[in-house]
Amino acid sequence: MKIYIDGKFYPKEMAKVSVFDHGYLYGDGIYETLRAYGGKVFKLDEHIARLKQSASLMEMTLPLDDNGFVKAITDTIRENALGDAYVRITVSRGEGEIGLDPALCPKPTLVIIAKEFKDYPSEMREQGIRVTVTKTRRNHPECIDPAIKSTNFLNNIFAKVEAKKAGSHEGIMLNHSGFVAEGTVSNVFIVRRGALLTPPVLSGILVGVTRSVVMGLAAAMGVEASEEPFTEIEMRQADEVFITNTTMEVMPVTVVDGTKVADGRPGALTKKLSAAYTEEVARCLKAH
Ligand code: PLP
Repeated sequence: MKIYIDGKFYPKEMAKVSVFDHGYLYGDGIYETLRAYGGKVFKLDEHIARLKQSASLMEMTLPLDDNGFVKAITDTIRENALGDAYVRITVSRGEGEIGLDPALCPKPTLVIIAKEFKDYPSEMREQGIRVTVTKTRRNHPECIDPAIKSTNFLNNIFAKVEAKKAGSHEGIMLNHSGFVAEGTVSNVFIVRRGALLTPPVLSGILVGVTRSVVMGLAAAMGVEASEEPFTEIEMRQADEVFITNTTMEVMPVTVVDGTKVADGRPGALTKKLSAAYTEEVARCLKAH
């Protein structure tokens, strides 16, 4: 495995960043997770746009422009001779003296890891997954804005630990007003009387690239789809629940806190959107 660090490739064992990097010292950094199908990255421009948005929200200057990122990402996939790949871009504040001031770090550190994509077990897609509503609330947007895809991930890690202890695949976090915000690594959707609902940006979420694709697919199918706050109880009483992210795509949720969602099987609209998502990936990559 070859890792990209600041423009050069290193074998995994030699791929190191400084212990003075503020990403390591303070979790001061941002990242993106991308997925390549047959060597081509799905929604590459959207991921780069979100990386830029994260950087701007934390006043970080990125080391490359858009074309530079496209080249670095495609070179990393090629260097590792990958087809279906998981790609992780991390940009940390960089190496600097100990102290919180980002000005101590003259240049950010850019790392790109690409490895073979291993899909989730097929039972998860076929039977749906279990989720737990966690006691850990999502970061308040005025503390660490969830719109920043930040490497400062303790909030999500605490929720993940709770979910794991409860035997669930994913933890669903509420926001400070008690409405559903998002999963530890995913966006949440419910289906109620044929309509699709997902929490709005104002609920304090990361605007998922997959979430946007799914909203577009629903609209194209003529399904009523809205960004609207909903509660934990409304989620439990929904006809269908699913979560989305780049690696899971559309993942049915069939158990919330030990209780079945409807009849406990992946819902019809969830399955339709999941199939439409697969077609959309194929369509986009063909047009690439
Ligand atoms: N919300 C959080 C907190 C995430 O970490 C992620 C992805 O990892 C998502 C939502 C989904 O984002 P995307 O669809 O862009 O992968």
